[in-house]
Amino acid sequence: RLQRLRARLLKSNNVFGKSLLALLSRDRIDEDVWDEVEETLLMADLGTEPTMELVDRLRDRVKVEGTQDPEQVRSLLREELLAMVDPSMDRRLEASRKGDRPAITMVVGVNGVGKTTTVGKLARVLVAEDRKVVLGAADTFRAAAAEQLATWGARVGVDTVRSDKDGADPASVAYEAVAEGIRQEADVVLVDTAGRLQNKANLMDELGKIKRVIEKQGEVDEVLLVLDATTGQNGLTQAKVFAEVVDVTGIVLTKLDGTAKGGIVVAIQRQLGVPVKLVGLGEGADDLAPFSAEGFVDALLA
Ligand code: GDP
Repeated sequence: RLQRLRARLLKSNNVFGKSLLALLSRDRIDEDVWDEVEETLLMADLGTEPTMELVDRLRDRVKVEGTQDPEQVRSLLREELLAMVDPSMDRRLEASRKGDRPAITMVVGVNGVGKTTTVGKLARVLVAEDRKVVLGAADTFRAAAAEQLATWGARVGVDTVRSDKDGADPASVAYEAVAEGIRQEADVVLVDTAGRLQNKANLMDELGKIKRVIEKQGEVDEVLLVLDATTGQNGLTQAKVFAEVVDVTGIVLTKLDGTAKGGIVVAIQRQLGVPVKLVGLGEGADDLAPFSAEGFVDALLA
């Protein structure tokens, strides 16, 4: 399965890696080449600052080592990219009981980024690891969202706590989900939330209230922000808004299968100082993978 995921990640991103490697394999690495490298990195959404930094460092190192050997340049590029993705970040998910209660995870993000799908896939991963999971459908704004989540729950074999009424109080659904998780002695409760971003004050109110109400029963251990990799810099703007509203502990980058803009990983982590923990690589139930800095860079340069 890992092989398959790696192959898909590779297929989606290697445009970027291939062109970088091709550029750096030219007979003469001159200023024109560096300009093109810069352009390629910018097109991949690495962001202006990280791009300039990476190119400066790489250019310096190539000069200092006095090398034009493609293999050596490639390995310098790998090192510099890896440093940018930051392998030292802790990407583990909270997935074990905290004393006498489940770990509590809120999943947040704008509508359409793949939030509900991510909750479903994540539940499946956790169940496959023999963990007991309860889902909470606190996106009560769209009836279809709760329905969609419950469908995932049934598919994966876990209970979904939801309200019968449209427009029910999201915080009370979240509260009930955690209570159910406690009753079932679950390992993890995953709470799906609404993502209406047209008004930051509303969003802040709603997510803040969900969090406060959950915390009557236990800390929120993880807040996963779901972002759509295909939206590029737009995703960055969303990320900033959410980060101002809740303490994001990890990023899930979805739809990485549909873009060559994998550089956004670096841009987002830099911006928020929060690690990408999971990546979505398709619409299927198995298409969620833990993010690994090494795996990512190797896939880029494969
Ligand atoms: P939500 O509104 O944020 O809850 O978004 P949904 O979970 O309903 O997903 C929106 C659409 O994106 C659906 O058609 C999903 O199948 C699709 N989707 C979610 N994750 C991925 C992914 O990693 N790759 C691709 N290609 N599609 C995805």
